[in-house]
Amino acid sequence: MARYTGPACKLCRREGKKLYLKGERCVSGKCALERRTSAPGQHGADAKKMREYGMQLREKQTTKRYYGVLEKQFRNLYEEAARKEGMTGENLLVLLERRLDNVVYRMGMAECRRDARQLVLHGHFTVNGKKVNVPSFVVKPGDVIAVKESSRDSVKFKGLAESEGGVRTPKWIESDKKNYTAKVVAMPAREDIDFEFNEQLIVELYSK
Ligand code: SF4
Repeated sequence: MARYTGPACKLCRREGKKLYLKGERCVSGKCALERRTSAPGQHGADAKKMREYGMQLREKQTTKRYYGVLEKQFRNLYEEAARKEGMTGENLLVLLERRLDNVVYRMGMAECRRDARQLVLHGHFTVNGKKVNVPSFVVKPGDVIAVKESSRDSVKFKGLAESEGGVRTPKWIESDKKNYTAKVVAMPAREDIDFEFNEQLIVELYSK
């Protein structure tokens, strides 16, 4: 399955904002964006003011990179969002939030979304008691996500279960880290998404 394997910090520098792709490092003074804010490449510092298309494109790239989704998958999600009732941009963000890798990260069982994706791919999680190793699996209210029994003794999961810091779990997920589980108790709402997206720009881009 294709995925971006280049330097994560370069993606943040490209978008000019923190995408939180490296766990603890992102909230420390070691964050590359704290030290250097220009876009990568020799012309980064003197980038010209972006036009409308450029802004729409950047918003789409930011959103894709934040959730670690590649272009084709993102486009498919957009089309699914457009078929649903309600606002397409909001539907898109809700679908992205419901991805299993995002939920694993938000329940506190991974250091970042990239980490969550790897852990899911390696088969460390179950949904309603059944192993699911597909990061794009979409959860729904009532689903119970858990670290597989045989993985719970690992130093990594023990450390995550005991850690008090890390990600803020949104109210649509009830996380019980001590028991390595979480339950989806509602659909995510737009206001539960704590990152400044301008999803309307993505809709405008894809509606051209
Ligand atoms: Fe982005 Fe994290 Fe790297 Fe900072 S440390 S630039 S937030 S990936």
